[in-house]
Amino acid sequence: MSETMNREIPVRIVGGGMTGLTLALKLARRGVSVVVHERDPYLGGLTAESKLAGIPVERFYHCVLPTDTRLLSLFDEIGLSDAVGWTRTRTGFFTGEALLEMTTTADFLRFPALTFPDRLRLAWTISYCAMLPNWKRLDHEPISSFLKRHGGARLFETIWEPLLLAKLGKQYDRFSATFIWATVYRMLQARKAKGRSERLGFVKGRYGRVFQALRSALEAAGGQVESGKAVAGLRRDARGQWSLLVDGAEKPAKCIALCVPAPIAADWINSLVPAYAKALDQVEYLGVVCEVLLLKRSLTPYYVLNLTDRRLPFTGVIETSNLTGTEEYQGRHVVYVPRYAAQDSPIWNCSDDEIHAETVEHMKRIVPDFDTADVVAWTVNRARYVQPIHPPGWGSRIPPTILAPGLAYVSTAQIHPWTVFNDEAVGNVDSRFPDVLSAIELLT
Ligand SMILES: Cc1cc2nc3c(=O)[nH]c(=O)nc-3n(C[C@H](O)[C@H](O)[C@H](O)COP(=O)(O)OP(=O)(O)OC[C@H]3O[C@@H](n4cnc5c(N)ncnc54)[C@H](O)[C@@H]3O)c2cc1C
Repeated sequence: MSETMNREIPVRIVGGGMTGLTLALKLARRGVSVVVHERDPYLGGLTAESKLAGIPVERFYHCVLPTDTRLLSLFDEIGLSDAVGWTRTRTGFFTGEALLEMTTTADFLRFPALTFPDRLRLAWTISYCAMLPNWKRLDHEPISSFLKRHGGARLFETIWEPLLLAKLGKQYDRFSATFIWATVYRMLQARKAKGRSERLGFVKGRYGRVFQALRSALEAAGGQVESGKAVAGLRRDARGQWSLLVDGAEKPAKCIALCVPAPIAADWINSLVPAYAKALDQVEYLGVVCEVLLLKRSLTPYYVLNLTDRRLPFTGVIETSNLTGTEEYQGRHVVYVPRYAAQDSPIWNCSDDEIHAETVEHMKRIVPDFDTADVVAWTVNRARYVQPIHPPGWGSRIPPTILAPGLAYVSTAQIHPWTVFNDEAVGNVDSRFPDVLSAIELLT
């Protein structure tokens, strides 16, 4: 094949979410010819938006943390330096009887269900994590055994378990204790973020702006996007040339980067690189079923309401308009009611109407004067692959970047021990970029 022809064959990236687009932009800015293939007609993946009663609303809630330095630099690079607004938000706890403020450490220490010894044990557990230089020592211990060992069973039941249920759902104990280390580390880093430590950020005009800006920056650097067509698989010919199967056609690629959840990639590479298909197949995910309510009124003053009442079917109440203000939503209020769920949870078989009926019934327990007449519109969004489970020992089993010559994998399945956040997705691309680049250069 001539050099000229070789240069015309692009690197193809599958997945137009935060990971795929960030990787594509970095490659394009290095002069690599790149095409992003996205299944949906729009970009953004889990961070995309849709409309409720004609008003654009993100499918899932997204805040920006003051410590999201990699994400904020990306915003600078694509001309969105002023896109983030910062708000002093409040956090609440619903115990089954009362709504309590839990915004500051002092609120936490006043939490009525905690005895004096519990408070000391809580302080010790947090200090112990803070003293560890990294997560490695905790990689082999399940979350609950670690927390009970350091804080005792009572503290676990009163504080830790409800928080874990809120964040990870019923399957929290399939995670290792590295999750707690990462949570404490993030909390301490946030305290160091001068001036914004008590604040949360949001993208003014919603995250859709970010994906428009990413696309424009990519196209300005010579990259392309093909959206609205799902990739059906991969092919490698006898000479080792890769192609993507899209819409019944074979699209030759100099190199392919898969930026999709692990089970999807595993299916495609099963017969091509079986050993790596196995590595990807072992990644298990929590999914999320999340009702979104567009309301005439605010439900609580909190951005996040943690729920310690185990009878509630959902894992939290996130009132995004308490972070963004209501101007973003034509004066309406927006509330997300998420339920994190394992792949075999019966929730996946529930209809939207069943989920909505449960939301209404249980919301009345938290907000007694909640009235369906205040609901302007609602919808239920579902995503099967959201948070990779980090079981004990996961630190040494994270999927690699290079699966075969000319075939790379970059996705949230490699984020550890942190929970999946856009800043982590950008950081994961940054740290794997040299490997992807050298794989492409080797083929040039
Ligand atoms: C409920 C919830 C709350 C969250 N809260 C926050 C938050 O507050 N702050 C924050 O920073 N992050 C948050 N996140 C995480 C954030 O959404 C993710 O970090 C981010 O979306 C991951 O991006 P990604 O590109 O790696 O994956 P994805 O967004 O999953 O992108 C994968 C892309 O691949 C595409 N794809 C899949 N199959 C194919 C195919 N066959 N052909 C072509 N394309 C395909 C998909 O359509 C998708 O666009 C939250 C996520 C959820 C679900």
